[in-house]
Parts: sequence; C-alpha cells; structure tokens
Amino acid sequence: MSKSRRRGDRHLCQQCFSRKALYRTPAGRVRADREHELCFQCRRAETNRSRGKVLALVERLIRHAREVAAAATLAKREDER
Ligand SMILES: [Zn+2]
Repeated sequence: MSKSRRRGDRHLCQQCFSRKALYRTPAGRVRADREHELCFQCRRAETNRSRGKVLALVERLIRHAREVAAAATLAKREDER
C-alpha cells in the first residue's frame, strides 16, 4: 500500500476498508495497534475469535486436569491394596 493511500485510509477500518475505524486517540488519529484500527463489526468478530480460542484452551486444561486427577485416584487405590 502506498503512503498516500494509507494516509487517505487512516480513519477506515483496516480489515474491511468500508466502515470507519471506531477507536481513536483524542487527537483524532487511529492508534497504531490493530485493535484500534477496526470498525465495530470487525472488532467484534476479532473479539469473538480470540474468546473462542481462550475457551478451547480452558476446556483442554480442564480435561487434562480431570485426567490427572483420575490417574492420581487410580494410583492411590493401587497403593492402598
Ligand atoms: Zn471493518
């Protein structure tokens, strides 16, 4: 992307380039980080995606913890015999 085009698109969402980016500094400039260059719809989509990733990770951790607990219970029973 050329510099002049980038300047013209400064306030547009950096994902769909069709809606205004919502999040700006008080000076009216879109901040450099990705989260602040998106319109509401694209930002919500991003948030849902990352939330889904976190939920999947938590579910995996819970499953793992259950497996560890089950293995520990089995080992304890073996010891008590
Ligand atoms: Zn957008």
